[in-house]
Amino acid sequence: MTSSAIQILGAGPGGLSAAIALARGGREVHIHERYESVGKRFQGDLQGIENWSTKDNVLERLRSLGIDARFAATPFREVTMTDGRRTFHRDSPEPLFYLVKRGPFPDSLDSSLCKQAIEHGVTIHYRSHYPQSDAHIIATGPIRQSIIAADKGLVFSTTLPNMAVGIFHDDLAYLGYSYLLIAEGYGCLCTVVFKDLHRLNNCFERTVEVARRMAPIDLTNARPVGGIGGFSLNHPLKLGSSLLVGEAAGFQDLLWGFGIRTALTSGCLAAQSLLTNQEYTLLAQKEIAPFLQASVVNRCLWETVKLGARPLLPFLMKVPFSLRTNFRLLYRFSPFHRLLYPFALRYIKRQYPHSINTGKEQDG
Ligand SMILES: Cc1cc2nc3c(=O)[nH]c(=O)nc-3n(C[C@H](O)[C@H](O)[C@H](O)COP(=O)(O)OP(=O)(O)OC[C@H]3O[C@@H](n4cnc5c(N)ncnc54)[C@H](O)[C@@H]3O)c2cc1C
Repeated sequence: MTSSAIQILGAGPGGLSAAIALARGGREVHIHERYESVGKRFQGDLQGIENWSTKDNVLERLRSLGIDARFAATPFREVTMTDGRRTFHRDSPEPLFYLVKRGPFPDSLDSSLCKQAIEHGVTIHYRSHYPQSDAHIIATGPIRQSIIAADKGLVFSTTLPNMAVGIFHDDLAYLGYSYLLIAEGYGCLCTVVFKDLHRLNNCFERTVEVARRMAPIDLTNARPVGGIGGFSLNHPLKLGSSLLVGEAAGFQDLLWGFGIRTALTSGCLAAQSLLTNQEYTLLAQKEIAPFLQASVVNRCLWETVKLGARPLLPFLMKVPFSLRTNFRLLYRFSPFHRLLYPFALRYIKRQYPHSINTGKEQDG
């Protein structure tokens, strides 16, 4: 790494946010992307940027980190959740999440961040095979050995109104959830299964049947979407002197797989570290580690505590704080989480042995 220009591997949210923040800080930045465009991992999926893990708004927080959140993002204040027996509707005064499109499309998060990076003078090298050891930042997405979940779905045009429905039933989404999202005439119906990934096709077929009964969706011209997600706790955040961000660092929500925000945030933190010489590991441990640790406890509770059905659902939907507060309580590494953390860690180590790095453990 002799040149003063910054070299980043991977043009997903992690790599692009790092590039934008670094270019804004006055550095020359090059991104090396292995495909011929950004967003090739996705095919038009609708994904949610969660807006509950901090009190302040996620888009404001990203702005404060140097990312101009002017990508197309539909705010959602209202959700429906069902476990097949009970259905809960709740709304929230502030958006619970922002829906964005992913993939190589003009209105996607990926294209919008890419445009912003180019406007700030970042050079993107497509079909690039830049050596990992020479990169300042590695933002290459999921770690193969740490795959924990798989997602399969369809995207389609629709005249139905905006909606967000989560279906939590093991026959439809083993240890995971199915979702029907509609934003501005565009729909996405998916199933996410955890652990036993071979169940995916079966679960998705059942999801389609159930979703058709819930809403008059027309899937005639639907296109397939999907992918895999990884999680790794205590993964090294540096490889030599390269900083790892996003899913390449194992950053992901182990409960439900929300990884965009941690990718964007960690990209900005890596940029901050390179611009100001602050220790990246410390920045990431303060900002991101508690979210990951809370999600370890949440997944353990999700898989082990079943009082007829999963009790986290009524907690989220019935506790009389605002819905966003309930989600924040769940995702904050609270004293309750701290108490359960050692047991949860042991459980997750058994169930997802490749997701817990057995090197130095983070402080609980
Ligand atoms: C189907 C699905 C649905 C999801 N839904 C949500 C959701 O609703 N909300 C949410 O928050 N998260 C969601 N996630 C997770 C989220 O998409 C990821 O956590 C996020 O994209 C991670 O960003 P990243 O930049 O770390 O990696 P990626 O988005 O994977 O980007 C990595 C980039 O690096 C490139 N690359 C890889 N290897 C190399 C290499 N050797 N050289 C150069 N380039 C390379 C890839 O081509 C890619 O462009 C979902 C994931 C899946 C699979």
